[in-house]
Order: sequence, then C-alpha cells, then structure tokens
Amino acid sequence: MKIKADTGRCVGAGMCALTLPEVFDQSEDDGTVVVLDAEPPADAAPAVSRAVQLCPSGALSLEE
Ligand code: SF4
Repeated sequence: MKIKADTGRCVGAGMCALTLPEVFDQSEDDGTVVVLDAEPPADAAPAVSRAVQLCPSGALSLEE
C-alpha cells in the first residue's frame, strides 16, 4: 500500500492529520498535507483507508 497526496488539491482541512497523526502532518507554511509515512505497515490499512475517505478535497489516494 502506497499513499499518494496531491498537494494541489489539498485544502488544508487537516482531517487526515487529526485522524492519523502517525502518517499525516500538515505544512507549517500553508497547511497542506505532508505524508510522514507513504508506505505504512499493512495493519494500518483500515485507518489509512478511513483517513483517505475523510479527506474533503479528494487529495489522498491509495495504490496497492
Ligand atoms: S484531509 Fe485532505 S484536504 Fe485536509 S489536509 Fe489532509 S489531504 Fe489536505
């Protein structure tokens, strides 16, 4: 599983960082998403999927 983040679409809502702070953070400059762990362990998959679905701008996606 690999996380892709489109910072051009990110609106800095912060849902990802709130949901899963081990994997997502936000830029101190503009609040856009910073992926801390783009290839998290398999047991994190449910939480990662939830964070991706919660993103209001569709900036996050997953590759298998
Ligand atoms: S939830 Fe989506 S829009 Fe909000 S900071 Fe994360 S990637 Fe950006």
